[in-house]
Amino acid sequence: MSTDPALFVATNDLAGQTRGRAVPHAGADAALRRGVGWVPANLALTAFGQIAPNVFGSVGDLRLLPDAASALDLPASATHPGVRLVLADQVLPDGSPWHCCPRTFARTALADFRAATGYEIVASFEHEFTLDGPPDTAPFSFGRYRGAEPFGDELVALLTDAGLEPETWLPEYGADQFEITLRPVTALAAADRAVLLREVVRDLARRHQRRVSFAPLLDPDGSGNGVHVHLSLRDATTGDPVLYDPARPGRLSTPGARFAAGVLAHARALLGVTAPSPVSYLRLTPHRWSTGGVFLAERNREALLRICPTSTLGGGDPAEQFNLEFRPTDATANPWLTLGVLVRAGLRGITEEYAPPVVWPEDTAEEDLAGVPSLPSGLEEALQELEKDRVVADWFHPDLLDTHLAVKRAELAEVAELDPRERCARIADVH
Ligand code: GLU
Ligand code: MG
Repeated sequence: MSTDPALFVATNDLAGQTRGRAVPHAGADAALRRGVGWVPANLALTAFGQIAPNVFGSVGDLRLLPDAASALDLPASATHPGVRLVLADQVLPDGSPWHCCPRTFARTALADFRAATGYEIVASFEHEFTLDGPPDTAPFSFGRYRGAEPFGDELVALLTDAGLEPETWLPEYGADQFEITLRPVTALAAADRAVLLREVVRDLARRHQRRVSFAPLLDPDGSGNGVHVHLSLRDATTGDPVLYDPARPGRLSTPGARFAAGVLAHARALLGVTAPSPVSYLRLTPHRWSTGGVFLAERNREALLRICPTSTLGGGDPAEQFNLEFRPTDATANPWLTLGVLVRAGLRGITEEYAPPVVWPEDTAEEDLAGVPSLPSGLEEALQELEKDRVVADWFHPDLLDTHLAVKRAELAEVAELDPRERCARIADVH
């Protein structure tokens, strides 16, 4: 087996899939400089592998231009060669941006946000997933944690060596469920890490011949696998945190409250991007600690935006820890598009001075939340909200939006005849 690892140049697409091309080690330097070929119509691939209707057709060429800063090494094992995985922008052959590239969508949103506000966004994507293992292990138990070894230790070591800064690795509540969190980092890198993390987990499971799934729900009666996006704002010049203001409701500063207002105001459309699979909405129902409605609350796991706890233990500084958690997304979504729409919604809230929203306190009774707006009941409804909310729709080039809608509708059609249990199984096969 060759000891010189290949370079896999990858994008993550509208179906949430990481796809790309490998070049042998000898060609890696050239590929880092000049990219590798790619095809516009690939953006219309569904998670099931068909090509949805699209404007690109059989013509046109792109380059996948790697960002060397995102490169991650997966070392060789006894059974599998090593590989270097690097994330790329989709660009035109002359290197100029392609109007449908999801990573460029995020980067542009972040640049606009910084230019308009003077703030930088720091983020972390928290992931839950299901890893088959010994039967009937208890939620949160030492037994489940140990039962996952040596997978868990190897995962944490791989992530550490790759610079992804794992923070916690834990047995979760649902059957066979685990969670991994990474340290917060500059937002584009956080979204890159989300793409990479999923592939590291899958690659390790492959090596161990264990089945892993990030699907939002594996069993309609079970617990969901969520992705929770933690966001905080910092002054781009001084690095000072700007979300925290102990004098304001929920300790959320005025810019933080306006950011939240933007996300809440456009939430029903955002979900067409952040919860984009036919089973995402089975997870997004009340009493699952996913998201029970469109509201902002202090430390409430049913909120769409949760104000996370802070701790003063060991000299902890609340301002440094303070962050907003967006909960209605899952790993069927593209992390760059998820980040991009959240940033654009927050930016809109700040620049248009949206009224600070209600911060529901921790002791709010469930009945008091009866009047909060509901989430879309399914993907088709969310897609219609996305088309209808012209503010959100206009953040996308029409080709990108149309392709997204076509991909999602093709995925819906693929599972239309299946009952919820079969739908979950079908989505779990591809996520
Ligand atoms: N599994 C829940 C979800 O679907 C999250 C539980 C938790 O708060 O960690 O989002
Ligand atoms: Mg969790």
